[in-house]
Amino acid sequence: MLRDHFATDYIEDTCEIDDAFPHAIVAQRDSVVGRTMRRLTCSLLLLMAAAAICQAQQPRFRVLAFYSEHTEPDHVEFGEQAVRFLRSLAKKDHFSLKTTTNFEVMRMPTLKRYRLVIWLNDLPSSPQQREAFAQYMDSGGGWLGFHIAGYNDSSTKWPWFVGLLGGAVFESNSWPALPATLRVEDRTSPVTRGLPPSFVSPANEWYIWQPDPRQNKDVTVLLSLDASNYPLGWKDTLAGGDLPVVWTNTRYRMLYINMGHGDKIFTSPIQNRLFENAILWLCTKKETGPALGQAP
Ligand code: ZN
Repeated sequence: MLRDHFATDYIEDTCEIDDAFPHAIVAQRDSVVGRTMRRLTCSLLLLMAAAAICQAQQPRFRVLAFYSEHTEPDHVEFGEQAVRFLRSLAKKDHFSLKTTTNFEVMRMPTLKRYRLVIWLNDLPSSPQQREAFAQYMDSGGGWLGFHIAGYNDSSTKWPWFVGLLGGAVFESNSWPALPATLRVEDRTSPVTRGLPPSFVSPANEWYIWQPDPRQNKDVTVLLSLDASNYPLGWKDTLAGGDLPVVWTNTRYRMLYINMGHGDKIFTSPIQNRLFENAILWLCTKKETGPALGQAP
């Protein structure tokens, strides 16, 4: 079932209709021509006013978020909290948000209506869904993936998606979910605007990748795990190594964010700002560069 959650309280209209009519038309009030002209002028003004109101209420952009209610409980919890977070953001930043658990709507006619597609806690599994998404991204679509949405290994069998992630393949993860200090590597990006050089990110399950996406010249790493966190985890321990947490493959309008496990993710105002920045950047980013829309 497709669930509609359009934000409705966009920018309030402040236009008023000016009721001053041209004197020349008023002087002909007794003539048929005068009455017709007056009606036409009135209609035109009303149409212009309606158009102005309509424009003022238009969302800045449209976002479609996919999530699953039938995956690992910690990921479901994150997904539900993320939907609430996105709804509040849609109102604050004046964009339209649609959320759905139905991955079957991942078809080009639907996708192309949206400036940004978000995967909160799952990814498409059928060849048709995957093909439609690849076509959308190769046509200049936008994507934001959280945590498990970027998971891929030898069983995933979707090479195009590995390319979208800049070549990153899941290798291992920390366990249990723990907070970690993140280092902001690029403080000039709009995605990291207002963030301190480092901050403690709430409890999360952290992924390490092999190949490391940093090896790809088209990848820009924005945040990474600070080395002071190692060893990280008790049951499954990450002993060391480069661990990019947020990155973009500059050949696409995309961003991957590793956070997305459990019910603590949205407890950090700093991290919430990162999420907001990420969405606004992806939705307002200019399509520049010869490689945009081309498969790697
Ligand atoms: Zn997880």
